[in-house]
Amino acid sequence: MSDIAVLLLAAGESNRFGLGVKKQWLWIGEEPLWLSVARKFRGWGFERITIAVPERELPFFRRYSEFPVVQGGATREETVRKALLQMEKSPHLLISDVARPCLSRELVERILLHRDEAPCVAPAITPPDTVVYQNETVDRSQVLLVQTPQLCHTETLKRALEEGRGFTDESSAIRALGERVLYVKGERGALKLTFAEDLRWLDCLTPPSQRGRSGYGFDVHPFTPDRPLYLCGLEIPHSHGLAGHSDADVALHALIDGLLGAAGFGDIGELFPDNDPRYKGISSVQLLKETLSLLTSCGFRVEQVDMTIMAERPKLKEFKLPMEERLSELLSLERGKINLKATTTEGLGFVGREEGIAATALVTLRYFDWSRR
Ligand code: MG
Repeated sequence: MSDIAVLLLAAGESNRFGLGVKKQWLWIGEEPLWLSVARKFRGWGFERITIAVPERELPFFRRYSEFPVVQGGATREETVRKALLQMEKSPHLLISDVARPCLSRELVERILLHRDEAPCVAPAITPPDTVVYQNETVDRSQVLLVQTPQLCHTETLKRALEEGRGFTDESSAIRALGERVLYVKGERGALKLTFAEDLRWLDCLTPPSQRGRSGYGFDVHPFTPDRPLYLCGLEIPHSHGLAGHSDADVALHALIDGLLGAAGFGDIGELFPDNDPRYKGISSVQLLKETLSLLTSCGFRVEQVDMTIMAERPKLKEFKLPMEERLSELLSLERGKINLKATTTEGLGFVGREEGIAATALVTLRYFDWSRR
């Protein structure tokens, strides 16, 4: 099947889904949904599989994916058009939503069987319910619910998408061009995951692994005069603050790195580059909030945090409790799941010479269990 390229669409924002999680990032066993669908297609013998993803999540998809990943757009049509520009040339393109995870191999084979009969082959089913259109009951046998995957002649599809008319699938674009679309028998089980309640009907999906994921963060910042000192999002009275591009809250930076490490999402420097003017002088509380929002939208929940701050001065003993309380508030996590330690380094090294402060964080994340709502 080397003349058929597969394009999997995972660039949507999941606006209708609910749960505060993007459906492409639902965990299926030990892997995200999009990866499990891509591996399924590979298992069926497809060798050229590309995944179109949202721009902001591109680096995270790349970290998880053994498949090429391309940047999608704001709509399905724009995503396919952009993907076509980024993909290697291929005479046929099979396009499917990752949100249709339970489609069968038989359905794909049925589509491929007709590959040379029309510029577009699409699976479709008739509605089982009565259909009323503009207050009139219509003959439902004449109504088609068009599914994916759809197999397209790549060049025809490119022409069909040139104008950008807001088509909701490829078969509509190709038909609007005046080209033929061949509808083959679809599959009722190939349900598209749109709303959270659809999860009930998608019985091919394995519940998410409940294995904890650990991440480790470490950071150092040097002292500088004339700057407030921030640790764990609190201003701590001291003669010096810490130097850095942001407010240099070394403890929150270590925490953010621990969070990103546990999610497998890289590090703070990749997410918030220190040469980006947007982050100059920014409160690290803001950086933590953005990190948490990203992890939450991908389904991760913080389970436990253990941190150590290393400083010769100021003495942090009296600030440990307020700092833990602040972390508890920022992470929406019970106090008992947060542990903050402060230590000196007995006069040794850069911390001992009072040149700066170091911090470490050990974070445990767990994936929320969508199967037990
Ligand atoms: Mg830092």
